[in-house]
Amino acid sequence: MAQIVSDEERLLEFLYAAPTGLVEINALGAIMMINPYAMKHLLPLTGARDSGNLFAMLENSAPELRNLLDGFDGERGTVCDGHRITVDIGRDRDGPEPKVLACTLVKLDPDRAIACISDITQQVAQERRLKQAETWFSSLMNDINDYAVLSITSDGLVDAVNDSWTAQTGEARERVLGQTLADIFPSTDDDAVGMAELLRGCARDGWHLDEMWHVRADGSRYWCQRLLAARVGSQGDLVGYTVVLRDIARPAYDTGDLRRLLTQDHLTGAANRARFQHLFERAQQAWSEHGTPLSLIMLDIDHFKRVNDSHGHVAGDMVLTAFAETISQTIRPKDVFARLGGEEFAVLLTGTLSDASEMAERLRLAVAAMRVATPQGELSITVSLGCATARIGEDLLRVADAALYVAKHTGRNRVHKAASAVAAA
Ligand code: GH3
Ligand code: MG
Ligand code: MG
Repeated sequence: MAQIVSDEERLLEFLYAAPTGLVEINALGAIMMINPYAMKHLLPLTGARDSGNLFAMLENSAPELRNLLDGFDGERGTVCDGHRITVDIGRDRDGPEPKVLACTLVKLDPDRAIACISDITQQVAQERRLKQAETWFSSLMNDINDYAVLSITSDGLVDAVNDSWTAQTGEARERVLGQTLADIFPSTDDDAVGMAELLRGCARDGWHLDEMWHVRADGSRYWCQRLLAARVGSQGDLVGYTVVLRDIARPAYDTGDLRRLLTQDHLTGAANRARFQHLFERAQQAWSEHGTPLSLIMLDIDHFKRVNDSHGHVAGDMVLTAFAETISQTIRPKDVFARLGGEEFAVLLTGTLSDASEMAERLRLAVAAMRVATPQGELSITVSLGCATARIGEDLLRVADAALYVAKHTGRNRVHKAASAVAAA
């Protein structure tokens, strides 16, 4: 009956529409059946002349196919699976990629075989690109000594280290793996941006480049360029970071030294006036925006002129240095200690007025207990201190200065606390 579609017809229908090339051949390669997909990919290879024989069609691109079938011992079975045929149809192809076909040849019986042909040009190109990226990365990872490379997970832990890293830094791979960037690049500068913040910026901007000293395992240091690059997955998600360090020529100056020159008082090492101004403004901003308590202690050494007059300027300098050291050791690391002028200093602290006056009293006692050895013998000094806390509508510096004035004029070697707003009102 006409309605009964034979198996043979169903198969033909399937073969005809199959999105893969199917060619049925005999033992000599003569084509018994070929579907449109196979025709489309095979015909351009030879033109009509050899179109009756698969081996003839592939004579130039895959002469081995004939031998593979000839040499196949069994009566049936897979002769080759996904055998790659690079087709050089050269100039008339517009894409830059050579066409690549995959051929699976199955022997059905001693005189019959079927070839499945598919176009895998895209897949091969993709593979090559991946391979290239991999080769590039592995050459970056291992072959180029100037570039020390770390791979960082999105959680900020080192998960790969290249050989150059060890060569450049002297740090063994095992010591670096699993560490955080903060472990590897410890911040040496209180003003430096933390690594976590740097990584956040890098995730946002894609990369970050800077230069700095890096300390080797043996304690020596070298100047290097540091590239942080964010690695992004196919969905645009952050999968990690790559850090590249390059040992580069040392600049004429060290930015750390330069920063110190610009921000520190050369004699005492305290922050200089400009630095104080900057930090004071920043602290006032934090106070007004977030209510972070802020207090100021002004310090002025008592009768310092006498020290100079009786022991000389050199001894005076030694006293100033010792004074600064005592203050620095007494305040907390976060407090700011600055030299505002000759023998006038300030301590800026996060805290209330009573925190400040307690701190001031500690400072006063510490200074009074100081004994400074000078060529002229041991010297001791005292200091007067004025404390104030930030209040709306008041000039903190002025109020603290006024408190210092009171301390001076009520006998020196004492702390005066600016009256609270309530008491003043
Ligand atoms: P008072 O208790 O009222 O503060 O008296 P004083 O003598 O400390 O105050 P005055 O402001 O009259 O004198 C400060 C002196 O500090 C004058 C100046 O010679 C000295 N001085 C300022 N800077 C330096 C410095 O860098 N080294 C030395 N050795 N002396 C300095
Ligand atoms: Mg003074
Ligand atoms: Mg003084």
